[in-house]
Amino acid sequence: VNIVRDIGTMEHPIEGSFGKLGNHAEIRYEDVRVPADSLLGDEGAGFLIAQHRLGPGRIHHCMRWLGVSSRAFDMLCERSLYREARGTPLAEKQTIQNWIADSAAQMHAARLMTLHAAWKMDAEGASAARREISLIKFYGATVMHDVVDRALQIHGALGYSTDLPLEAMYRYARAARFYDGPDEVHRETVARQILRGYQAPPDDIPTEHVPTRREAARRRFADILEAVTAND
Ligand SMILES: Cc1cc2nc3c(=O)[nH]c(=O)nc-3n(C[C@H](O)[C@H](O)[C@H](O)COP(=O)(O)OP(=O)(O)OC[C@H]3O[C@@H](n4cnc5c(N)ncnc54)[C@H](O)[C@@H]3O)c2cc1C
Repeated sequence: VNIVRDIGTMEHPIEGSFGKLGNHAEIRYEDVRVPADSLLGDEGAGFLIAQHRLGPGRIHHCMRWLGVSSRAFDMLCERSLYREARGTPLAEKQTIQNWIADSAAQMHAARLMTLHAAWKMDAEGASAARREISLIKFYGATVMHDVVDRALQIHGALGYSTDLPLEAMYRYARAARFYDGPDEVHRETVARQILRGYQAPPDDIPTEHVPTRREAARRRFADILEAVTAND
């Protein structure tokens, strides 16, 4: 096993930190053989084990992201109260009020979705909760990203500096949108599962096509219509 080089990332931009900051590295495996008594689980079952780990792993990410979002949200609100622009606190600007309201709504939705996914995992197991886990994986990552971004924006240059934790939170939030599966892949999983519950309509006429439905209703209730018209 050869550690070729330490790779700086947005999370740990300092090179040469391998083993110190939990950084990432390029590792080359050449002719590596694992003794049979070191085998974890069955031979060839590695992918399955990784998949089993990913469901519970993702929900823990989502819980941590709620904490990060909440901390950034507190900073956003605090800053709005003491920083003034054009004679009034930022809290009185409609854009900032929108940020606060949108962040609160998104965080509330993410918290309930996380709780629901965790409840379903407890009640029915991780594989039954695949859709709920995928939903909160991409939604929770985006909520954290958006809330941290707004908190950073309202702090201006101070938010961009290392005097506040926001720049580190922003780098952390950016990675969340692709580790343990990029947003696109989770959206794909969710959409595929949902579409299994639908089918194309016969003759490509939409189920809700009004003229077709009206005609079907006329045929179905012809007797009643006839009776009503006769009374007229
Ligand atoms: C900080 C960090 C920590 C990580 N930790 C771990 C770890 O502990 N264990 C581990 O195994 N891995 C880990 N990873 C790896 C991570 O899971 C992968 O980076 C991630 O799954 C994306 O794979 P990739 O980098 O090969 O990108 P690619 O697969 O090349 O994807 C790149 C982009 O292509 C697009 N894309 C990919 N697939 C589709 C699709 N089906 N439809 C539409 N667009 C698509 C998306 O925009 C995606 O972001 C970590 C990554 C980071 C950044």
